[in-house]
Amino acid sequence: MGGRGSGRRSSYSGKPETSDSMPLDIRKITRKGLLMPGNSFSWQWLVNDRQVAGISIRVELQTVVLSYRIKSTGEVVEQRVQTQTSPCHLGGRRHWFTCPRCSKRVAVLYAPGRYVACRQCGGLGYATQKEGAGDRASTKADKLRKRLGWEAGILNGDGDKPKGMHWKTYQRIKSQHDALVQVSFHDIGRKLGFLHKLLDE
Ligand SMILES: [Zn+2]
Repeated sequence: MGGRGSGRRSSYSGKPETSDSMPLDIRKITRKGLLMPGNSFSWQWLVNDRQVAGISIRVELQTVVLSYRIKSTGEVVEQRVQTQTSPCHLGGRRHWFTCPRCSKRVAVLYAPGRYVACRQCGGLGYATQKEGAGDRASTKADKLRKRLGWEAGILNGDGDKPKGMHWKTYQRIKSQHDALVQVSFHDIGRKLGFLHKLLDE
């Protein structure tokens, strides 16, 4: 991974999960000594030695300005991303991006489409972005509940095996359902924890 060519060109080789999701790792940028205010360079992603994507990066004080072309429209977008540092236990400082969406500090940002974001934010499309992971899980769980003939809404508890459904099928659907319920409850708990935190402040 990385390290191809001179400092001005870098690469990410390997199979991208989706052609539009390219990881930008601040550790690789700092390792190459590129994260210096005033510096401009380009960053490319190579798959089988072919460039599949590239962006231009301009480094400012505690900010990087990324510019890249949107594949579908050809439009060039410029996005400012804050950077921050934390002390390193071996001395020196470690650099981080601040995710433009959730403000969490992350080492890797992804370019999923129009805007770059951390893995958590970037993995989501616009429609699902407003819903949390728990909402998506309960929507999926409801689809399974429908197949089982259960009342919608995970809070309504479990029903019985529908007549005529094989036990194997029922058990498979039910275990998928239960896993989704776990995700949903976990997310609800996290959100409540978050609310408590807000109220405490
Ligand atoms: Zn984020």
